[in-house]
Amino acid sequence: GMPAAPPPVITPRRKTRQFNVGSVGIGSNSPISVQTMTTTKTYDINATLQQIAEVTAAGCDIVRIACPTDKDAEALPIIAMKSQIPVIADIHFQPKYVFAAIEAGCGAVRVNPGNIRKFDDQVKEIAAAAKDHGTSIRIGVNGGSLHPKLLKKYGKATPEALVESAIWEASLFEEHGFHDFKISVKHSDPVIMVRAYELLAESGDWPLHLGVTEAGPTFQGTIKSSVAFGSLLSRGIGDTIRVSLSAPPVEEVKVGNQILESLNLRPRKLDIVSCPSCGRAQVDVYTLAEKVTAGLEGMKAPLRVAVMGCVVNGPGEARDADLGVASGNGKGQIFVKGEVIKTVPEDQIVETLIEEANRLAEQMDLD
Ligand code: SF4
Repeated sequence: GMPAAPPPVITPRRKTRQFNVGSVGIGSNSPISVQTMTTTKTYDINATLQQIAEVTAAGCDIVRIACPTDKDAEALPIIAMKSQIPVIADIHFQPKYVFAAIEAGCGAVRVNPGNIRKFDDQVKEIAAAAKDHGTSIRIGVNGGSLHPKLLKKYGKATPEALVESAIWEASLFEEHGFHDFKISVKHSDPVIMVRAYELLAESGDWPLHLGVTEAGPTFQGTIKSSVAFGSLLSRGIGDTIRVSLSAPPVEEVKVGNQILESLNLRPRKLDIVSCPSCGRAQVDVYTLAEKVTAGLEGMKAPLRVAVMGCVVNGPGEARDADLGVASGNGKGQIFVKGEVIKTVPEDQIVETLIEEANRLAEQMDLD
């Protein structure tokens, strides 16, 4: 049949220049990519590759790995070669690791010029090596490690300070004819972060990597990142994102994907629509929604599944979904494409929904 029209987004993407991190395009001609960072010791090659496989399975597009020691630098070539997704080496203090990562075949290197004191002198060599190897760069400015001269000028990491740092560092690369870089201006305060990215977006056509740094544990971090990224992405700002959580990288990837899916910036996968429950509920909606979510985990088909606590609003909502249940009187009315196809006892609701979801998924495959 006809391909479906892409779902509407709030604002078109801000136009940026374009480059690649390995096989993944960065910039307004490419889909917004999701990143995370491994938590394993990079020199533990097996553990790191295992974690990369996990985040890849969860839908991560690009993975970043820290490179704080010689041992880690030595592990980069094999990790870059065996990883299923492009690898970005994260270098904080030592320029020699920047060169090691470029030679190791990493898709990109993240440098934090505020931390690399000798940076100015070495940009020319870094740019030349990166160009030779087709490696791109992320200039990662961070509120916590602003260059001393800017801290002195602004007193603290204001949006203007972050952006001045970013533009200065960008100019160092551009002076040497190197343009394949993206920029981040992270801060732990979403308000400062959003303002900094707004300013940066107005100042040039660099692709932007969004991040709220040190966002916190899953609950706080998810909300901070969602609010900040949502504000920017809904105005077309942001080309690749990393949700920082004090939680496993797979969780960061799931949150990142969900943020993009919520804004129609990534095709929606399974979408569970469940009611908040209220005094009319005739079933434990929370448990039911959890069981259905768990039972459908990993399903690739973009089904919308409604789990509703009663028959008041239930059928109406369930009708807009591909599939749904409205519960009442110890039973569940199962809806498929707006029609009640059967009514089952409460203890069979979950298995029936899973059965029907799989059937619909197979049909979608055939289409
Ligand atoms: Fe309440 Fe029923 Fe609406 Fe759920 S579907 S919130 S139980 S009225």
